[in-house]
Amino acid sequence: MESHTHILLLPYPVQGHINPMLQFSKRLASKGLRVTFVTTTSVRNSIQANASSSINFETISDGSEEVQDVETTYQTLERFKSKVSQSLAKLIERHNSTKCPPKFVVYDSFLPWALGVARQHGLDGAPFFTQPCVVNAIYYHAYQEAIQMPLEEGSSISLPSMPSLGINDMPSFLHDTGSYPDVLKLVVNQFSNLQDVNWLLCNTFDKLEDEVVNWMASHWPIKAIGPTIPSIYLDKQLEDDKEYGLNLFKPNMDTCMKWLDTKEVGSVVYTSFGSLAALGEEQMKEITWGLKNSNCNFLWVVRESEVIKLPKNFLHETTEKGLVVSWCPQLEVLDHKAIGCFMTHCGWNSTLEALSLGVPMVAMPQWTDQPTNAKFIVDVWKVGVRIELNERGIATKEEIELCIREVIEGKRGKEMKRNSLKWKKLAKEAMDKGGSSDKNTDEFVAKLAHS
Ligand code: UDP
Repeated sequence: MESHTHILLLPYPVQGHINPMLQFSKRLASKGLRVTFVTTTSVRNSIQANASSSINFETISDGSEEVQDVETTYQTLERFKSKVSQSLAKLIERHNSTKCPPKFVVYDSFLPWALGVARQHGLDGAPFFTQPCVVNAIYYHAYQEAIQMPLEEGSSISLPSMPSLGINDMPSFLHDTGSYPDVLKLVVNQFSNLQDVNWLLCNTFDKLEDEVVNWMASHWPIKAIGPTIPSIYLDKQLEDDKEYGLNLFKPNMDTCMKWLDTKEVGSVVYTSFGSLAALGEEQMKEITWGLKNSNCNFLWVVRESEVIKLPKNFLHETTEKGLVVSWCPQLEVLDHKAIGCFMTHCGWNSTLEALSLGVPMVAMPQWTDQPTNAKFIVDVWKVGVRIELNERGIATKEEIELCIREVIEGKRGKEMKRNSLKWKKLAKEAMDKGGSSDKNTDEFVAKLAHS
């Protein structure tokens, strides 16, 4: 029988925010809710035909179809807010006159104004935080003005329920306040209108961030519901889609998997810097040599827009040992037995995916929450090493080679692998029936069904 509890989910339209909300949508549908995943025009064409039959997709305008000139970040955010507020209101009005009107909107925490739109139309709402709880807590302290910004060079920051953090462990926007003032406002304002919400959903799991989850829970009704990766990767017995279902980039599917099949167990360094980070040309050259000199096999994702930064002829010269692709099915890759470690920018999804699949990491954070994630990867979860930058902020080929070797063949690498497998087990337990994240999700579904 079709469920009468209808819920809308509204992601922020970048890959790292779409993936977790899409997977959470499927989870809600599997628990009996009727789910409409609301995408905006800029990503409409990327929904895969086989995305998921368990949820409905609807597209609303974000005004991007009318944009002619290059926009500043401020203009993009303002346009998005103004257009999506209007088109979301229209979508809700349309659904409100059907037999199964929506009751609730789960919106990306970067879009706090969506709560106002929902409430004006008689719906309730909750933010979905796509970054780890520790980073949310840091932004909350910044919102409370308990952190002096910009952070001072050499300072160390002590906040409740987390280790002491150096300036290079903090989210980049808090010290590099001049470069992205609008994004800084965005992340701090996630807490601007949450006085009376009943839920803050967060893509993490209790045991992974126990102290900070508890601290946040004493201030906010925060619930960890992750890791939001397809169940099939956590439990081979379960049926689920192998992909999230909405790729903004086209993966070189067969090429990657066939190439990995030819490699020995644990012999490949998978390297990716996610969907947004843009590295300098000098840095790309150092990575090239670091990978080559490590003498390991490597699979490196270099997005089309970044290929121009690769050393001349490198693509043609790539040997049997190395494969460069413009995008890959990352979950399937991380799950492949040939993968020995993941050299990563430490985006939160990549971090959670590696933890959940038991893959140790070489951390090379770039910006936003990534430095904090790297700190936890190394010092708290003990599943990786962090590449130290030289005085000019470059990760040199020698340092890259050293770190890769340490994780793939070193004594500490073995320890990291053991720890990774421990986190993999705990991630599975959290999502298993009755596990902490599963219980939180059940509670959410039950409350909605009875409201
Ligand atoms: N991803 C992918 N193929 C790639 C690189 C990344 O499917 O070649 C996915 C990855 O699995 C993750 C997301 O893109 O779910 C990237 O999110 P993350 O938070 O790691 O980084 P961001 O792109 O937001 O910096």
